[in-house]
Amino acid sequence: MKIKGVIEVSIFFVETHTHLDLIKRNTEEVVKEAAEKRVTKMVTIGIDLESSKIALEFASRFAGVYAAIGFHPHEAKLLDAENLKELEKLAKKDKVVAIGETGLDYYWKHSTLPCQMEAFKKQINLARKLNLPLIIHDREAHQDTLKVLVEEAKGLKILLHCFSGDLDMAKVCIERGYYLGIGGVVTFNNAVKLRVVVKEVSLENLVLETDSPYLAPHPFRGKPNEPKYIPFIAERIAQLKGISVKEVAERTSVNSKEIFGI
Ligand SMILES: [Zn+2]
Ligand SMILES: [Zn+2]
Repeated sequence: MKIKGVIEVSIFFVETHTHLDLIKRNTEEVVKEAAEKRVTKMVTIGIDLESSKIALEFASRFAGVYAAIGFHPHEAKLLDAENLKELEKLAKKDKVVAIGETGLDYYWKHSTLPCQMEAFKKQINLARKLNLPLIIHDREAHQDTLKVLVEEAKGLKILLHCFSGDLDMAKVCIERGYYLGIGGVVTFNNAVKLRVVVKEVSLENLVLETDSPYLAPHPFRGKPNEPKYIPFIAERIAQLKGISVKEVAERTSVNSKEIFGI
């Protein structure tokens, strides 16, 4: 497969984490251009009530787009009882495939830690109530994230998006049956730790994501990211594992189906 030229039509990629509402281009074009690169299914992620509603709107407009709805740890302070009720209503709509992104962010701390913790647990409970998988954001909060998940989220399907732990953490996650989202960071020169993880961890536990508009892969680093760049991430994973891009596409698509049913 040549990602800059014609891509085999028999394969397709699933983009498990994009913020379509934050990409400052015509959404129809973004979705269309992604499909031209065989990124035919994508999950667009909510970070608060408003963006969760927009995610649902996009999901109803575009066949290949699905929605995850939730409150990002940055917005945890906004998840009061009323918003939680509203979130539950949204979560019951068509094409909602996950709760998230939720989790802990100890780097920016835009919400206080107790506040993040509370919102995280509330959303785990919601996922359990509605039998939906969880998309987890964990930035510099590995220990607490793993602790909360083992205590509160047993039996739920877990995807740690933009995985940033080391190999030891990855092994714990795999042991528990979690999936790891791999994005553009894997193509960065300084991403030594992540490349070790990708090399060592079974493809059965990995899925593809861009986290667009953030974290564009090389050679677009620093520019706005888009779902259409997924093949660059798949290619790097294939290189690291010494397998074909086709194999990466197929297996990560199977994994995405296991998590989201899409
Ligand atoms: Zn995130
Ligand atoms: Zn995100």
